[in-house]
Amino acid sequence: MNITEDEKKAIKFEKAFINKLIKENQFPVEFTFPIGLQFELTASCNLKCKHCYNRSGDNDKITSMTPQHWIDFSRYLVDRGGIFQCILSGGEPLLLGNKLFEIMDILHNDGTGFILITNGMLVTQNIAQNLMKYRFYRVQVSIDGATAELHDNLRGVKGSFDRAVEAVLLLSNAGLPVTIANCVTRENLDSIEKMAEMSYLLGASSIIFGKIMPSGRAALNNNLFLTEQESELMLKKINSLIKKYFNKLIIQIGATDIYQLNKSSITPNSVAIIRPNGDIRLDCVAPIIAGNILKDDFYKLWNQKFKNVWTNKKVIDYLFEINNLNKNKLSVINHVDKDIEL
Ligand code: SF4
Repeated sequence: MNITEDEKKAIKFEKAFINKLIKENQFPVEFTFPIGLQFELTASCNLKCKHCYNRSGDNDKITSMTPQHWIDFSRYLVDRGGIFQCILSGGEPLLLGNKLFEIMDILHNDGTGFILITNGMLVTQNIAQNLMKYRFYRVQVSIDGATAELHDNLRGVKGSFDRAVEAVLLLSNAGLPVTIANCVTRENLDSIEKMAEMSYLLGASSIIFGKIMPSGRAALNNNLFLTEQESELMLKKINSLIKKYFNKLIIQIGATDIYQLNKSSITPNSVAIIRPNGDIRLDCVAPIIAGNILKDDFYKLWNQKFKNVWTNKKVIDYLFEINNLNKNKLSVINHVDKDIEL
């Protein structure tokens, strides 16, 4: 889907505001080191979701970063001043077992806060207790429908709904800020209201309803994507839920991939993703690669290629391309398969 007129207006407004702050020296012109990084800790996954934008589980071989590499990289970051926020994702990050906590400890002891994105399959009482010591922006559990039938069908494994629900209970009972992420498809659009109710009853602090990204396995399952009319219905439903759950549950609408990218491009870059093969990538949307931490010095590459990434011609061309996709067709950009090396 292309960016809407309302989204264009919002971006224009924010851009003017950021430029004003930069002129007044209240916002940095550039970041000489990232403030946030996402670690895609593994390409392996214990689910096989039809809409996985990363095709996790299909391409396990790309995981060349071992837990020791992540530990070494975390120490490297801390030695150079550290990062404020680390998003831990995969594949499924809890597949790393206790090594996950070793990595988190290094960053946590330096003051980093976390977002953990999990499918909930491996969450136990013990793991929930272990997670209590860290600072979390959120612990995000994916649930795609208010019934086992809906969720298990989309996620490819029977019993995954029960595990995810149990995980939310364990994590919220441990006092962690749980967000439920619901990818809205043609199959589960009708269960949006029940999802909000279930999230509230399970003790989650928020729920994000998002559309599927046309990438990875999702790009092969066109039947899941909402039509324009269904998208409008989704927004209508969510807006009425926001009113209904005011002060009880935070209900958010996930940004579309193209909107997110345009929004990011108006501020100096401060983030990157490290992929399971060590590639340094701009974010989970744009397949822009700066190099690989298994071969290159991250700090050097950041300064050479990523801190001013939005002025790079290849990146400008990529943005132009995705902003001018045929309005009537589904986005054909596959964010996994189309790497652009800077
Ligand atoms: S969407 Fe998440 S849980 Fe599903 S296969 Fe991909 S990484 Fe695994």
